[in-house]
Amino acid sequence: MSSLNQLSITEAADKLQKKEISAVELTRACLDETAKRNPALNAYLEVFDDAEQQAADADARRAKGENGPLLGIPLGMKDNILIEGKHVSAASNILEGYVASYDATVTAKLKQAGAVFLGRTNMDEFAHGSSTENSAFGPSKNPHDEARMPGGSSGGSAAAVAAHLALGALGTDTGGSIREPASFCGIVGLKPTYGAVSRLGLIAMGSSLDQAGPLTKTVADAELIFNAIKGKDSLDSTSIDFSVQKSMPKKIGVPRHLLKTGVDPDILEKFEASLAALKAEGYEVVDIELPSAGLALAVYYVIMPAEVSANLARFDGVRYGLSNKGVSLWEDYAKTRGAGFGPEARRRIMLGTYVLSSGYYDAYYGKATAAREMLRAEVVQALEGVDLIANPSAPTPAPKLGEKTNDPLAMYLLDIFTVTANLTGNPAISVPMGTVEREGLPAQAGKHLPAGLQFTAAHGNEQALFVAGKALEKTGGTMRSNG
Ligand code: GLN
Repeated sequence: MSSLNQLSITEAADKLQKKEISAVELTRACLDETAKRNPALNAYLEVFDDAEQQAADADARRAKGENGPLLGIPLGMKDNILIEGKHVSAASNILEGYVASYDATVTAKLKQAGAVFLGRTNMDEFAHGSSTENSAFGPSKNPHDEARMPGGSSGGSAAAVAAHLALGALGTDTGGSIREPASFCGIVGLKPTYGAVSRLGLIAMGSSLDQAGPLTKTVADAELIFNAIKGKDSLDSTSIDFSVQKSMPKKIGVPRHLLKTGVDPDILEKFEASLAALKAEGYEVVDIELPSAGLALAVYYVIMPAEVSANLARFDGVRYGLSNKGVSLWEDYAKTRGAGFGPEARRRIMLGTYVLSSGYYDAYYGKATAAREMLRAEVVQALEGVDLIANPSAPTPAPKLGEKTNDPLAMYLLDIFTVTANLTGNPAISVPMGTVEREGLPAQAGKHLPAGLQFTAAHGNEQALFVAGKALEKTGGTMRSNG
């Protein structure tokens, strides 16, 4: 049998239920692998010293007769999700020494379900990025090739799951930060419908875009975690009642006009092969048009920084974390924020402040908001004709670390296929569709790098994503990675 840490959540839950294994054994297997690989991967910023104790508590709950699919399952938690009593930093120096004073709703729900929190996973600072290179604590590495990025911003969570340092993990997704690293690391990543999961206790990035969601080895595992964390929360007024819809998706729409340029040819080949496999499973595949989708990236990079600039205003040296003193309150702010925020956070604060400023608000923020409405209407309309929209999750496999660091625009382009679902609030999932080869020599095979296929569904229809995601897994797209 493979090591316990290589199990999926579903497999481990079955073994726990049959009392073939204990949560303590499962947690130790993850911790042992972490001790071996985390020094190189930098997937975790902190491994919690009470992880084994949490597992023992889960075993005790089971011994008393409790049951449930997440009872005793060890998970990683992105470092922007509050866990009461634990340090949380959003991978930023500005939150130095800050300890969460309450549980995020997702944390509380997972505790209730009996999950074990292994540690805080690395991320781009405040979730700004696509590679983890914006972390104040150094990048994470892709387990498939440590010279490459794991994607971001939930790159630590993705690397931890792909390398079997956790059975699953939570991430957050504002413009693709769950789906893009899932694609680069060969795992499953779900961005739920906006409002399906409470945002209380997540360190906010773009409040009209953010959602927490699972990164897992299988679609069934993502469904398990989603079911545990979803639901209306009286403490988040944007959260919605969520009842699972019955869904048998049959028709997939492909916006081929968006795939004409900028997508690596072998990614397109994998995508077409996956569609052909889905056709063989009985799905109908048709072309659709999303005329405004070409604007999505530009719209996102106006609205997101506007919201970032407002959300990051709270880090002023008075209320949270780092506090550098000057001779006036103004100087306190300048010294704290100047030292605490990294370059990308500063860039986004400046961009956001600019697009919201008098004289530019109408030209940028107002226009972007109007374009967002147009896009939302187009996606709603498209999803009246088809059950799902499909496209590659990212235009390339994982780039090398450093390859895009000095060109923020090139980095932003990695988000081209993911930002739309955040702008429109639709649920979307990235499911592995196999690997492409890079750095091969004529006489020698290259590196096999994962790629993901993204499905988008109508509001509240996560079920369609799970059904189609499982169908894609069945066709052999899924690579249960050994990292
Ligand atoms: N890569 C995107 C960005 O840099 C998305 C980030 C996210 O989803 N948190 O904004």
